[in-house]
Amino acid sequence: MTPKISLEFFPPQNLEGSFRLWDTIHALAPLDPRFVSVTYGAGGTTRDLTRDAVRTINKATGLTVAAHLTCVDATREETLEIANEYAAAGVTEIVALRGDPPKGSGRFEPHPQGFANSVELIEALSATGKFTLRVGAYPDIHPEARGAQADIDWLKAKLDAGAAEAITQFFFEAETFLRFRDRCAKAGIDKPIIPGILPIENWKGARNFAFRCGASVPAWLDDAFSKAERDGREDLLATALCTELCSDLIDEGVDSLHFYTLNRPELTRDVCHALGVTPRVQLENVA
Ligand code: FAD
Repeated sequence: MTPKISLEFFPPQNLEGSFRLWDTIHALAPLDPRFVSVTYGAGGTTRDLTRDAVRTINKATGLTVAAHLTCVDATREETLEIANEYAAAGVTEIVALRGDPPKGSGRFEPHPQGFANSVELIEALSATGKFTLRVGAYPDIHPEARGAQADIDWLKAKLDAGAAEAITQFFFEAETFLRFRDRCAKAGIDKPIIPGILPIENWKGARNFAFRCGASVPAWLDDAFSKAERDGREDLLATALCTELCSDLIDEGVDSLHFYTLNRPELTRDVCHALGVTPRVQLENVA
């Protein structure tokens, strides 16, 4: 089975970043993603950049764009105003998250007039009737969860509050996702859980990122990348491992994959091609 894909980008911070994002979108758009999403910096730090990137991609490409939105450091009014601006611009998909505080500022503290948590945010967005909502899920368990079951109960609360699907944090082994999917099913979750896939551009960066967000890092992977690094073959290893991870998921019935592209097209494109997700030929190009 050929999977459906979606793609995640982050908003560019400068002109060079803008060109890189644009090139990435052009390289990957022919793979016909279900939607592309644009992240919202930790602590709401890219509020304007995210909004500009979402609106530009929405206006300039035929792609369906989902805007990430968090409730960190903003009143309810401010958060809903951003959402309403999206709706007015024709953007009707939101990835609704509690969000992380800015680097170094410790735990999440709700704004005194803000949403206390992600469920409140999802309820408010859902009540507008304007959006398709997606939420985050954590196969390796969120670092702030009281336990695996509490984490799943909370995911269920987020979906019951009005979200249509969940997208997971990245993980390195198919088993991690499959066990999580089983636990979700056991808890009565029947909405789609889409695995988040990180093609590993840079192993040290991916490993640090994994430690920060609580994703477990298998020792064999560290070993494999240090050997590949010695031989200058990291790209080959990254493509092979990511393709194998996706194939294993597809074999287990997964039909949609969400790629964390990090605004680089090559690995995502190569993995997608290996999975049979190939460019959709435009009629005008063959006529
Ligand atoms: P929640 O699921 O609300 O909370 C995280 C965990 O804490 C829960 O799983 C639960 O175990 C526990 N918890 C929280 N509140 C309660 C409660 N009241 N009762 C019981 N348990 C509770 N961050 C950004 O800043 N910008 C982004 O664009 C962004 N995009 C992301 C996209 C995806 C697909 C994912 C998976 C994560 C993304 N993140 C982003 C990271 C995310 O903001 C952090 O992981 C954050 O710490 C949790 O956000 P959440 O909405 O998933 O939180």
